[in-house]
Amino acid sequence: MTTEFKPDPVINAKVNQEFKKDEYEPLGKPVYVKKETALDAMAGDGGYQEEKYLGNYLRFKMKREGKRFWAGDNISEYIDNDHVKEQLIDEATEAFELVLDRLLIDRENDPNSKGTARRLAKMYFNEIMAGRYESAPDATAFPNDSEDRYEGMLVVRSELRSMCSHHHQPVSGVAYIGIIAASKLIGLSKYTRIAQWCARRGTLQEELANDIAREIAKATGATDIGVYIQAVHGCCENRGIMAHSSLTQTTVLKGAFKDDSGTKKEFFDNIKLQQEFAPR
Ligand SMILES: [Zn+2]
Repeated sequence: MTTEFKPDPVINAKVNQEFKKDEYEPLGKPVYVKKETALDAMAGDGGYQEEKYLGNYLRFKMKREGKRFWAGDNISEYIDNDHVKEQLIDEATEAFELVLDRLLIDRENDPNSKGTARRLAKMYFNEIMAGRYESAPDATAFPNDSEDRYEGMLVVRSELRSMCSHHHQPVSGVAYIGIIAASKLIGLSKYTRIAQWCARRGTLQEELANDIAREIAKATGATDIGVYIQAVHGCCENRGIMAHSSLTQTTVLKGAFKDDSGTKKEFFDNIKLQQEFAPR
């Protein structure tokens, strides 16, 4: 028995796939009007709507150039003068105003909320995320290559203030940075400046330890490096599990700090001595 094939009227329907002719005839004759789709607007520099914000222009530029701009990344090469930063602060103020409006906070009448949007914008750019927008601190290196060069371990304790990328809650603690001196040395305060420059961003403590180790290696030329961080996290204390005495420890060890048990022990003994000297 054979069954005759009957085309399904819906599936096999002949659809006219020609685009309709434009019927827009303002001068009595058809005019072709290009309609900008949402995708058109996203492509390239984003179209005129998007480009009125410098922040959008810079985002598209970084995407085009393959530049990563995560919360913990430094993008100072795109903020090449103070006017750029001022403009970005203005734009962020506008955006924070909208956030306050959406939170149903009366920023017109509440005297404490009047300038909050601008305060937030300035705080992000100039303080809690300053390490994203500012270039690396100058760290002049001094030669350490004479006969009586310093060959020992150097451990510097640096106060840290950071912010978690997940909740934008404060992270505060200390980093202990240890190196075996290489052929150059930097001023003692520079270790802390570099650590704070890495910390003043949206970070994860694990990544922060790596970032500090990498930047210290760059500045000093040292390959034997240890970074130990202990910090308390606002996102564990103020919300979520509300754990008020939680402490997070992370360690990154490179070169002899990793491979030589004597060096490793000396580093952690030094940390204990520091903690006895000034507990925290
Ligand atoms: Zn968090």
